[in-house]
Amino acid sequence: MASRDHARIKRRVRATPRPMKKRPQFSCRDATDLIGDYLADTLDSFERRSFENHLSGCADCVAFLATYKRTVELTRAFLAEQSLRTKPTGLKLRPAMTR
Ligand SMILES: [Zn+2]
Repeated sequence: MASRDHARIKRRVRATPRPMKKRPQFSCRDATDLIGDYLADTLDSFERRSFENHLSGCADCVAFLATYKRTVELTRAFLAEQSLRTKPTGLKLRPAMTR
């Protein structure tokens, strides 16, 4: 009888949905999904808090955010430069077929 109780307890422990670890339900996947909105500042306060909370404990996502930010900045700078350089003329890469 004692061993039966034990088994029941064990089963209940295993059925516990989530161990109360320092791992909230907010995953790295969630973070990467929200990263663009986070930078665009379009998250609501709950999402934003969850996101920042996740980053405070996840070096991977911090690194990813930094890379993402940098990429956006570089892309923006690149496009700005390109539009300055190639403003007046249209693209004509082929030699003109005159004659
Ligand atoms: Zn993460």
